[in-house]
Amino acid sequence: MEKKEFKSESKRLLDLMINSIYTNKDIFLRELVSNASDALDKLYYKSLTNKDLNINKEDLEINIAYDKDAREITISDNGIGMTKDELEDNLGTIAKSGSLSFKETMSEEEKKNIIGQFGVGFYSAFMVSDKIEVESKSIDSEVGYSWESEGVDGYTIKKNNIKDNGTTIKLHLKNDDDEFEYSKYLDEYEIKDLIKKYSDYVSFPIKMEVVHEHLKEDSKKKKDKDAKPEYEKVKEIEVLNSMIPIWKKNKNDVKEEDYNNFYMNKFSDYDKPLKVITSSVEGITSYKALLFIPSHAPYDFYSKEYEKGLSIYCNGVMIMEKCANLLPDYFSFVKGVVDTEDLPLNISRESLQESKNLKLIAKNIETKIKNELKDMLDNDRDTYISFFKSFGTQLKYGVYNNYGMDKEKVQDLIMFYSNNEDKLITLKEYVDSMKEKQEKIYYATGESLEKVRNMPQVELVKEKEYDILLLTDYVDEFAISALREYEGKSFVNIEKDELDLESEEEKEKIKESNDKNKDLLSKMKDIISDVSEVKFTNRLKTYPVCLTTKGEVSIEMQKVFDSMPNSMGMKADKILEINDKHPISKKLKKLYKESEKDFEKYTKILYSQAKLIAGLPVDDATEISNLICDELSK
Ligand code: ADP
Repeated sequence: MEKKEFKSESKRLLDLMINSIYTNKDIFLRELVSNASDALDKLYYKSLTNKDLNINKEDLEINIAYDKDAREITISDNGIGMTKDELEDNLGTIAKSGSLSFKETMSEEEKKNIIGQFGVGFYSAFMVSDKIEVESKSIDSEVGYSWESEGVDGYTIKKNNIKDNGTTIKLHLKNDDDEFEYSKYLDEYEIKDLIKKYSDYVSFPIKMEVVHEHLKEDSKKKKDKDAKPEYEKVKEIEVLNSMIPIWKKNKNDVKEEDYNNFYMNKFSDYDKPLKVITSSVEGITSYKALLFIPSHAPYDFYSKEYEKGLSIYCNGVMIMEKCANLLPDYFSFVKGVVDTEDLPLNISRESLQESKNLKLIAKNIETKIKNELKDMLDNDRDTYISFFKSFGTQLKYGVYNNYGMDKEKVQDLIMFYSNNEDKLITLKEYVDSMKEKQEKIYYATGESLEKVRNMPQVELVKEKEYDILLLTDYVDEFAISALREYEGKSFVNIEKDELDLESEEEKEKIKESNDKNKDLLSKMKDIISDVSEVKFTNRLKTYPVCLTTKGEVSIEMQKVFDSMPNSMGMKADKILEINDKHPISKKLKKLYKESEKDFEKYTKILYSQAKLIAGLPVDDATEISNLICDELSK
């Protein structure tokens, strides 16, 4: 039979998984059980909306069997099953194409991250098996198919004659070696332990046939005390899990580790969550929610592929896996489960989204998350900072998305880097520590803290000991412009807005100087052509020049626009400002009178200097470097 190849990325991932010695191999069982449970959920949900399917919830189950001699473990379910195409699509591909980048050589840690990043799923079975056989019949198909693979080489698919819908996965375990004892999985107690540890909450029974030795009935009755007791082997079916969903258990009965395991399993994360939030509400709408804040952003979090949402269960039955309406965009990183009895079980997904009860739950959940985050910020700062490093950008999006409509909800959760404090602070903290005469909130933007700190414009504000928020995330400035003000204090971009820090006398003086040198400045503007104005300024202390901007678009914003495919030509309206107190200013005035050529040269050099400081590229680098060299050789 023809052997089909795995898609190339899947192949590499499979290879990684099989050969990564550090990955926790135990998890293969929970992954397969969790897939089986999903398949049962899907079938049951389908039967609720399709009355032709006569399905009893009581009949749905997962079975585990093992055979020591053949070194095989089998996990089967009577769930929705897979068609031939689904077998190919689901088991022939692990990674969506393009979603992973592989490096040629990787450390074990990097490998582990890659594997963990998107959940190991079905493929984890290859960590323990050298051959996997899947038999499946979809509820929608007349025929069943068998899929078989021995790993990276590929897989085969052929028809079989199974009658009932469902899936059976048979693993042939690898031989034990120096590093790992695979046969440990061929043991009743090991399997029971693993199910208890990882899959106890699964809402369908996980059954296993076990053989126990019982004292024979007639052996008990024997009068002869010296006769040896006789035992017989009795086969029994045991249910290995308690089937109580973890969110329905009493909070005090659940260990932190149980929540963590549930999270890692259900949401395919290799790390435990940063925070577990539980909520139980009785009222007009009653529900239980179990929410998690991941400890790091999923690999696709800041991409279009990422889907937000919470799983909705109705009386223990999952009716939707990712209900987006339950989470506002700015909390899209939250994962979790909501269970309510107040939604009709056979509700369609469309009417679910519109349901009043759902909206009420969503509102409550939003408040709950907000309060928990605020509490973390106030009482567990280190954890909050770690959270903010992963998801702060998303919160800041929240400030300006929806035309800033939600800004009040998020503004006290965002943080910026403080120049004075040398750490992240909230806007409230900034305002609370403002100096007596300080009216405004000062901020500066740039690529890195280092670059922003060294901006020429920073000096003057620093001299007053006013704090400056150093913004380095590209959404920062957009968030600030959406906020406009905080507690009545307006924001001042020290790169572009009026600083208003000089005395009336100084203001008068600079105006005079600008008027007096009108022609000189206008000549400079002609030479540069790319700026809308050249002027003398009070903004600078020791630096000779800087670039500032007029209007909405700042230099940092322009950089963001430039990096987008449809920038629509949004350009910053630039001004070259010259420090009138700097010796260069005197020199310019002199050259303007004495040498047109040198004046032009100096203008060009000064402008390119200002651009470089602002982090903008110098278009005519060769010309500028020649000009500088000319000057140096004098
Ligand atoms: P994930 O479960 O994260 O989607 P997996 O690699 O574990 O990734 O599984 C891929 C897909 O294969 C599943 O989404 C599901 O559609 C299908 N699948 C796996 N196991 C079963 C099963 N026992 N019954 C039906 N479908 C299954």
